[in-house]
Amino acid sequence: MKIKYLGTAAAEGFPAMFCDCENCRKAFKRKGRDIRSRSQAIIDDSLLIDFPCDTYYHCLNNNINLHDIHNCIVTHEHFDHFYLIDLRYFRAGISHPAPDYKFNLYGSSDIGKKMKDLPEGVFKHLNFIEIKPFEPFKVEKYTITPLKAYHGTENPLIYAVSDGEKSILYAHDTDIFREETWEYMKQNKMYFDLVSLDCTEGAHEDLAYHGHMCLGRNVSCRDRMLKENLIDENTIVVLNHFSHNGISANYTDFQPIAAEKGFETSYDGMEIVL
Ligand SMILES: [Zn+2]
Ligand SMILES: [Zn+2]
Ligand SMILES: [Zn+2]
Repeated sequence: MKIKYLGTAAAEGFPAMFCDCENCRKAFKRKGRDIRSRSQAIIDDSLLIDFPCDTYYHCLNNNINLHDIHNCIVTHEHFDHFYLIDLRYFRAGISHPAPDYKFNLYGSSDIGKKMKDLPEGVFKHLNFIEIKPFEPFKVEKYTITPLKAYHGTENPLIYAVSDGEKSILYAHDTDIFREETWEYMKQNKMYFDLVSLDCTEGAHEDLAYHGHMCLGRNVSCRDRMLKENLIDENTIVVLNHFSHNGISANYTDFQPIAAEKGFETSYDGMEIVL
């Protein structure tokens, strides 16, 4: 099983538009891994996670022809994860999908409500499938379990994806998980080979608000996962979804700080094969 990070920034991108903060200035100057686009990932070059406003740029940069991708799971309605406007182009006369072509988009009722704003013609080739937390479903060879996220939208989800041999927990965007999510993972004896955790606020110890994480919260979350046997010392824990407002949030500055605590730091284009 392979995960590729196509975009690894929080909503504003990194550097952020209009911003002249120290983190953004450093990113502009250094380029490379310090440049981050909005969050998206792909499993085995086939199963897309999220459909943000940078999807088009990710496809061009990563040699992905969207026409070859048939399934996308969406975490939540924030535009850095779900950009409805681009789906408007998915209809006859504007694009030319093959007659037998179907693109399945899975998401909570929040995404379903937004889909109502799309022109009718889109739905000839686009299937929206409403999913519910704690109700696993099959897509291609994967069993996907939506779990409740702790984030600022009505029904945000995080996803456990298993191919029967390896399992990934893609936890964006979320704070340290809700008790219902801990309980479900424990009761179902889930185990993850890779966990991708929200690190929106970089090297902070803690935050004055809830809905995202920082390094201190990542440590608490990882420690509880270890305690509950959801992961072990072989699990790769990746920190991802960085905002320029975080402390030491540039890849170059953050990677050594995270590595010292046993975490991998994501960057656009990073691939991990399990
Ligand atoms: Zn986000
Ligand atoms: Zn900035
Ligand atoms: Zn969000």
